Amino acid sequence: MRRDTLKKMDTELKDVVHYTLDIHGETHKMNDYIGKQIKIEWSGVVICSCGKKMEKFYRSGFCYPCYWDSPMASQSIFKPELCTAHLGIEERDLEWEIEFQLAPHYVYLANSSGIKVGITRGSQGVIRWMDQGASQAILLAEVPNRRFSGDIEVSLKQFVDDKTNWRKMLSGTPESVDLVQLKEELSQHVPEELKQYILPNNTVTDIKYPVTKYPAKINSTKLDKTPIIKGELLGIKAQYLLLDGDRVFNIRSHEGYIANFSVPKIANQTSLF
Ligand SMILES: [Zn+2]
Repeated sequence: MRRDTLKKMDTELKDVVHYTLDIHGETHKMNDYIGKQIKIEWSGVVICSCGKKMEKFYRSGFCYPCYWDSPMASQSIFKPELCTAHLGIEERDLEWEIEFQLAPHYVYLANSSGIKVGITRGSQGVIRWMDQGASQAILLAEVPNRRFSGDIEVSLKQFVDDKTNWRKMLSGTPESVDLVQLKEELSQHVPEELKQYILPNNTVTDIKYPVTKYPAKINSTKLDKTPIIKGELLGIKAQYLLLDGDRVFNIRSHEGYIANFSVPKIANQTSLF
């Protein structure tokens, strides 16, 4: 049933980011729809990753039991500096936590709405940056587990943000920043015992998004309030669809919504519910 729900678009880094949306067994090349009408209809039902259906999630895209019991919703998911699997200490499910936490992680610097520090697992770096709407990014360190990346992130939080200001990110392209120099400066503040993980490679990734017009005044639209959203697609940045009327729609925050996506003027898709 999860394939009938909205989930974040797949991204591919090219001259501009290419987005695809998979739903109901169809793959939509979203860049082709820019300048055209699109329509998203919500069935009124959401479904948790455990399979439970309901009218709305309890919190953060989870049902009540998952939010309180699932390792996917534990505190260390939101605060990596609380990870303890590398010490063999269980938070909610040690086996799951070992698998998730004891894998290579990266700390990076990205310029999306200003400079931020972030962490990502394994090879997810570029995907993460595109999902966050970064215009430039650089890897700072590669560490053997999630906890160490959280510790580095905490040490740098006093100098740079660790969150993206999505309104600012959606209002245009940020000014270019010398990330190599910034990396050198910030590297001095990495805790001594973790300095060995700083990466010597200083490749900066530049990312452009398919946007014809940024919203002048951002109006965030949500399916809970507006179950049918339609309008002209003016661009895509991060996981946001930019629509006419200064509206923005965050696909990612609607993951798990059983919905229908259609492009009325291109294909005549029949509603699936
Ligand atoms: Zn659940």
